[in-house]
Amino acid sequence: VLRQVAGFMEPILREAEMTLALDIPVDLPQIRGDSGQLTQVFGNLIDNATKYGAIKPDPKTPDGGGTIRVGVAIAPDANFTRPGLVVSVADDGPGIPREHLPRLTERFYRVDKGRARAVGGTGLGLAIVKHVISRHRGRLVIDSIEGVGTTCLVWLPLAPEPARGLQDGQMTVARKG
Ligand code: ATP
Ligand code: MG
Repeated sequence: VLRQVAGFMEPILREAEMTLALDIPVDLPQIRGDSGQLTQVFGNLIDNATKYGAIKPDPKTPDGGGTIRVGVAIAPDANFTRPGLVVSVADDGPGIPREHLPRLTERFYRVDKGRARAVGGTGLGLAIVKHVISRHRGRLVIDSIEGVGTTCLVWLPLAPEPARGLQDGQMTVARKG
């Protein structure tokens, strides 16, 4: 999904003079999910990084430039109880003032109204992202430092491992004591 999204974002990235650095380790464990919905999730996060995460305007590249880093790693959930994968989408743009962070996933919430209007969009992206991730029993964390950049972390649980030593169709019985 990430490679596909990176592929169809290419023209938009080129237009914005931004670089996408995709770092996907080989042999990652599987997660199970709706690939269409997850395409929307990562499509929106990379779209946001392109629209709002460009480095500060400079005379040579007005409003463009910068690097978006997309990475994947094996990581437990916040309680260290479930194994999963964490996907990070990080830009080195202007960032988001701290007071806005808790409201970003509200429907129609946009930080800079004037700028948001100029780049188009509706303010629904992150609301959909949050909804899809929670349907996948995952977690979304958005963190940002003004003048440094914004990082969005999507944690998704690993697909349950098939029980070892069992044939398809066999069942395990949990015994108490
Ligand atoms: P849509 O996704 O519907 O096209 P949108 O991008 O404005 O519209 P969201 O994706 O929900 O809506 O994002 C909400 C707001 O959060 C954006 O309008 C922008 O102000 C802010 N934002 C999101 N991502 C970033 C980012 N990487 N850097 C700075 N601001 C961001
Ligand atoms: Mg968006």
